[in-house]
Amino acid sequence: MTNPLPNLEAYWMPFTGNRYFKKNPKMFKQASGMFYTSYDDKKILDGVSGLWCCNAGHCHPKIVEAVQNQATTLDYATAFQIGHPTVFEMADKLVNMAPDGMNRVFFTNSGSEAVDTALKIALAYHRVNGEGHRTRLIGREKGYHGVGFGGISVGGMSPNRKMFGAMLPGVDHLKHTHNLEENAYTKGQPQWGGHLADELEDILMLHDPSTVAAVIMEPIAGSAGVLIPPVGYLNRIREICDKHGILMILDEVITGFGRTGHSFGAEAFNVSPDLMTIAKGMTSGMVPMGGVLVKEEIYQTFMQGPEDGIEFYHGYTYSGHPLAAAAGLATLKVYEEEGLFDNAKTLAPVLEEELQTIKGSPYVIDIRNYGMLGAIELQPIDGKPTARAMNVFRECFAKGVLVRTTGDTIALCPPLIANEDQVRTVVRTVKESLDLID
Ligand code: PLP
Repeated sequence: MTNPLPNLEAYWMPFTGNRYFKKNPKMFKQASGMFYTSYDDKKILDGVSGLWCCNAGHCHPKIVEAVQNQATTLDYATAFQIGHPTVFEMADKLVNMAPDGMNRVFFTNSGSEAVDTALKIALAYHRVNGEGHRTRLIGREKGYHGVGFGGISVGGMSPNRKMFGAMLPGVDHLKHTHNLEENAYTKGQPQWGGHLADELEDILMLHDPSTVAAVIMEPIAGSAGVLIPPVGYLNRIREICDKHGILMILDEVITGFGRTGHSFGAEAFNVSPDLMTIAKGMTSGMVPMGGVLVKEEIYQTFMQGPEDGIEFYHGYTYSGHPLAAAAGLATLKVYEEEGLFDNAKTLAPVLEEELQTIKGSPYVIDIRNYGMLGAIELQPIDGKPTARAMNVFRECFAKGVLVRTTGDTIALCPPLIANEDQVRTVVRTVKESLDLID
């Protein structure tokens, strides 16, 4: 029996067409493993890990148990001048999973806060390092770095920027790497486009490199439609940053925690950032948590002045919250014990193979994939951008599969606990839906 819906009016929903939703609500009431249960009791196979976050699937019993135990033991402890053991254990486990030399982590509650924190660490690092003139930040077109003022300033998705004034000053953007003429239907990393990184030198020459604090980018641009970095691109950015003393921040909010078949995108693409922003898969979506991993040298640069003096004037009431830390610690253990990153590696070719069967379906203009990330880009309807992909989303939902749209791209990102059949079902449902829409 379906329960009557609650009153839907009070809640102003984020990134949602509120009026449409309230006339056509889609609600979940339960989740377990690979499936949601909708309000009207339909099983919905999760093709996007909730929102690129539930890498260990839903309501994993070990993560649930850890959160329950923590909630009955210690509900809250301030992170300012006081600690609690779970968060230190979580930090330790996390840095062991991180690339070599990233030995320190600063906790936040979301990816957006992680990004703003990373930008602040970069600016403050140069200042304590005697280079306070390095104040400029460089992002990239089509980048998504959350919704804080820092994140939208360095981000490159115009709908997220246009309403919010001038944002941070002193920000520049690299060109994006998306090019259908050169790279359409590439499996994995495109061969074309590594040279686009050289544009960073041009931007640096315009401003003088000594004014630039950091470059930030996602290893794979997720929210702009799963844009895979061309071969050599990220390494070239690293080289240019090194040459000019500029910090490289990789935003791993989506690419972290097994999504690429590796712990982090940095490992997958063999690049060594100075800072990494993380969130989402960190707790498999169970409790909000984000963070910034930093290289030892950056942390040590801050460790000056009186020993009892605060080294970095930044933090959140809920930094390292006990429930988030418990969820995070349990999640990292689940990733290890269940070999989920290896499962992602094993399933990646299945996702790729199945995606390729969509080539030639109506409206499809590109297919992209890397690890357990996939995308199908559609020709937009004239004068109605995003509508075609949204129609696919609705058809898939009606057929019992959750996908995500961004612009006119369908993005796929199944939980890493998926089996082969489930991965194929997600993609086949998109294919069937494409045959039904205009
Ligand atoms: N950075 C990246 C790369 C993201 O994909 C996201 C969210 O999708 C964020 C930052 C923001 O994370 P949150 O929504 O947790 O603030």
